[in-house]
Amino acid sequence: MYYDPVEALDRDSLEALQVERLKKTVANARKSPFYKERLKDFDLDEITRASDVEKLPFTTKDDLRSQYPYGMLTRPVDEFVRLHASSGTTGTPTAIFYTQRDIDRWADLMARSMYCCGCRRSDVLQNTSGYGLFTGGLGIHYGSERLGMLTIPAGAGNTKRQIKLIRDFNVTVLHIIPSFALYFAQRVREEGFDPAEMPWRIALIGAEPHSEEVRRKIEETMHIKCYNSYGMSELNGPGVAFECQHQKGMHVWEDAYIAEIIDPETGRPVPEGEVGELVMTTITREGMPLIRYRTRDLTRFIPGQCECGRTHRRIDRITGRADDMIILKGVNIYPMQVEQCLMAMPEVGHNYLIELFTEGVSDQLKVKVEIKDEYFVEDMRVLQGLQKKIAKTLCNEILLTPRVELVQHDSIPKSEGKAVRVVDNRRK
Ligand code: ADP
Ligand code: ZN
Repeated sequence: MYYDPVEALDRDSLEALQVERLKKTVANARKSPFYKERLKDFDLDEITRASDVEKLPFTTKDDLRSQYPYGMLTRPVDEFVRLHASSGTTGTPTAIFYTQRDIDRWADLMARSMYCCGCRRSDVLQNTSGYGLFTGGLGIHYGSERLGMLTIPAGAGNTKRQIKLIRDFNVTVLHIIPSFALYFAQRVREEGFDPAEMPWRIALIGAEPHSEEVRRKIEETMHIKCYNSYGMSELNGPGVAFECQHQKGMHVWEDAYIAEIIDPETGRPVPEGEVGELVMTTITREGMPLIRYRTRDLTRFIPGQCECGRTHRRIDRITGRADDMIILKGVNIYPMQVEQCLMAMPEVGHNYLIELFTEGVSDQLKVKVEIKDEYFVEDMRVLQGLQKKIAKTLCNEILLTPRVELVQHDSIPKSEGKAVRVVDNRRK
């Protein structure tokens, strides 16, 4: 029923395991130049419960940058076998190093994650992630092979070839980013096939924030089940938290990570079930352990037990990064709020773009929205009515009225990797 019995370990034993591994991690981390200094006054005896992790200092992305390239490593560089780097969505990239054992453990976590949402060794997986420094390529790849699935490293782009591979080799599992998946059904139809008759059954979607509405849209148009996949290069890559077949939040693999959710302003834990910043400590990584890493990702713990019987706590879908928040005219807006509204409207197509600009002395927000062909009519009054409706729906959610520009489907440029949802041209 589970890939690894540890997934259903009772909470007391799980906590005992975390305490033991946290102590080892702190001792090991001290072998790196960075933590040797940072943890020099810390007494290991202070750790008796998992929540004692709170006594340790945070590690930030700036710390990683300041230690670039080797300052976080617990052993000589020749003991490492792999390097990845974050895609650098925000600022300079950071380098992450893996020993052979780190690679093996990551592959195990990844295999467990895929098993958890229903993948089996008889499945055929096609990975549409870019390979290279981005962990969504090799990370998923190794996990898929570890589970025993036939694995097709298709890489990003070239939808026509993707579709041919899927049909020729009976692909049942796709790894695909949500913004690409939104287009896929349409492309399949353009190639003359019916999405309902494609061999696929499971899509692993993640790597970028997306709403429940987007998940539903992908599931309906592609005739597939989508499972949310969370990770980041600093924490290995994918395989940190994953949805099970119940699709009610992502289980964080707590035998490998200690997860906390804090108030990003005060650094204190938020009350159970409230949204805050996810902070993660790696407790099985030997080459480059991270203690209380500030992910900047916003989520909450989902209270209660999951029906699947796994005991590892679940996090809710990521609502965005702490640094994603747009402040306009004193109002705080998250791009995900805009997405939720738009994707719930039947007239809206696959893509949208939020543009910020300065007009005169004030900053403005414009939302470009792709409209489905059948709603893109010549009658101006109808279009204006739709424009107003979208502006009003958005205003109810974000508390200010945006400009809305309706555009034809496929007219907003797509990026090859993660989608760009916000363009900020405000005068600084
Ligand atoms: P970068 O930080 O340069 O984008 P990564 O490729 O490591 O590099 O991306 C990790 C980030 O991607 C996470 O911190 C998070 O913001 C986002 N992310 C990953 N998986 C998900 C997911 N399932 N839902 C929402 N956001 C995600
Ligand atoms: Zn579950």
